[in-house]
Amino acid sequence: MSEGTVTDNVLLEVRGLKKYFPIQRGFFSRTVGYVKAVDDVTFFVRQGETLGLVGESGCGKTTTGRSILRALNPTAGEVWFNDPSLGRINVTTLNKQQLKTIRRNMQMIFQDPYSSLNPRMTLLQIVGEPLLVNNVAKGKELEDRVANLLRIVGLRPEYMPRYPHAFSGGQRQRIGIARALALHPKFIVCDEPVSALDVSVQAQILNLLQDLQEQFALTYLFIAHDLSVVEHISDRVAVMYVGKLVESASTEELFINPRHPYTEALLSAVPKPDPRMRTEPIVLPGDVADPANPPSGCYFHPRCRYKTDICEKETPPLREIAPDHFVACHRADELRLMGVLGPAEAA
Ligand code: SF4
Repeated sequence: MSEGTVTDNVLLEVRGLKKYFPIQRGFFSRTVGYVKAVDDVTFFVRQGETLGLVGESGCGKTTTGRSILRALNPTAGEVWFNDPSLGRINVTTLNKQQLKTIRRNMQMIFQDPYSSLNPRMTLLQIVGEPLLVNNVAKGKELEDRVANLLRIVGLRPEYMPRYPHAFSGGQRQRIGIARALALHPKFIVCDEPVSALDVSVQAQILNLLQDLQEQFALTYLFIAHDLSVVEHISDRVAVMYVGKLVESASTEELFINPRHPYTEALLSAVPKPDPRMRTEPIVLPGDVADPANPPSGCYFHPRCRYKTDICEKETPPLREIAPDHFVACHRADELRLMGVLGPAEAA
């Protein structure tokens, strides 16, 4: 069985997703190569769960999220979504009209609450726009709906006539969340929604997202560069490296029993509350590989302390090494890697 095989209750299934950006040079803009931002990525998200998608900056997480929503057109692959009105449908093949329908159920919360909100629009216009564009409400009904959405995300309805500059970063992110919720979506891509916020505000936004998930039966793809952020919000975690998915498992399994050396390195940097559990962070040698010119075999091999000859020659396939635990490493069966002890282990 490979990751992405249809399992119970799957809302979104991504199969072999690729997004390549052409590198053009010269007077005639000849294509001389490709940046492989997303390179054959396969995973699924179950109804009502949160899948954390983690990796260093530039590893292709955001491009994956945008390709799923067709904000970017994928180069190849399939994105199957269980839409309440269209049924199970491949998002990559939809026409403009179908995309408009499906976007009611697939929304995005953006990383930067400062640049993602139009400074010339009031809160009423920002949050009400999706309702207006989709002919869901106008006039007094629109105002009532926006007031309700603002209440839901913890903002006062009296703020409706104000502009985004009057609000703090955390409040702006709440406005972005209210806008994403306007059409009662089923699935939301949360693209690093707390990384631009102060640490003190991050927990409030994460708690709000969790409350909303429970209240509205939402399903999240939660993108982050930091495993400690996804730990508390995610049911499962998928790790990306240079456009490829290298490991995915339930959050507890991944934190306690990582099977990919890159995951082990990321986990070593996660702050641990218990001093007995603290270890030195693993410092990876060299830089992240260039997605325009990745290394041969396993893309991680120039930085991997466990590499052997085969690692430089052959690309490890993503395979299920234990139930619901997928890894792309030639040595996953033999390596015993260091995770973070969960509460059950630590007791
Ligand atoms: Fe390291 Fe080899 Fe596994 Fe790649 S395949 S992560 S180089 S051990």
